[in-house]
Amino acid sequence: MNRDVTIPTTHPRYFSLMTREKIVAGYKNGLVALEGLIAHGRGECFDYLIGERTTDSARMAIDAAAAQILISNYPVISVNGNVAALCPDLLCSLHRSVKKSMLEINLFYYTKERESKIFQELAKYGVSNVLGTNPDNLVRIPELESNRRLVDSNGIFKADTVFVPLEDGDRTLALKKMGKKVITVDLNPLSRTSMEASITIVDNIIRVIPLLIERIKYHEKNSSESDLYTIVKSYDNKKGLKDALFIMNRYKEDQI
Ligand code: ATP
Ligand code: MG
Repeated sequence: MNRDVTIPTTHPRYFSLMTREKIVAGYKNGLVALEGLIAHGRGECFDYLIGERTTDSARMAIDAAAAQILISNYPVISVNGNVAALCPDLLCSLHRSVKKSMLEINLFYYTKERESKIFQELAKYGVSNVLGTNPDNLVRIPELESNRRLVDSNGIFKADTVFVPLEDGDRTLALKKMGKKVITVDLNPLSRTSMEASITIVDNIIRVIPLLIERIKYHEKNSSESDLYTIVKSYDNKKGLKDALFIMNRYKEDQI
């Protein structure tokens, strides 16, 4: 069924509606799982509460994430269907901005078909050296029951830092137990992922990646390794989550 979705740019929630259309198109194109639409809806709800903007607290988390990525030996960026539908171009730019990084496709609701659609989508933006698609290289993460227990032995398995936006809680916990630093982007400050991750950016993935790239470039030019360690050490993830909850309460309350 073809729909003509014309959203006027003056619409007060233009950005959110256009993003929703990207997810719907991603579902129709086979990138997004049906369950991914529900996860997106949950994200929209929290985005509404936080005012669909990047808070100062999220900016601090982004800064800490940039520092963590730069001090890592081998950071891996995990790609799922929702992220591939929302911002494949931005993910590829992030990968390019960190020379030692790799992209790895990792699906909760795995099908070979969806995996290859995502692979093709990333290739459109110039990245075809993507991990996670060769069955011979997949290894099991301990203590994880879901499909995502399989990760690439050359990728997430040996990474010291894993960037897992829009991630499931079980998986985040398993990665933490393996001793990895986990950076996530999750609009829900109460999700298990948000609470388990080393650095949680409570913001919309689409707004986050350009700011993250900007901070990586800034620190590369201006910060020493010891500055970067200080930023990471002084970052308090629990405080970031509390800030987000506080803002969500106050922001809408002030508008009534
Ligand atoms: P958990 O497993 O961590 O307890 P969950 O089961 O509620 O969380 P999942 O579907 O596993 O949720 O993970 C998706 C998460 O991504 C949700 O917390 C949702 O709010 C968040 N999310 C969805 N869309 C976006 C987006 N565009 N930007 C940032 N976060 C998003
Ligand atoms: Mg979950």
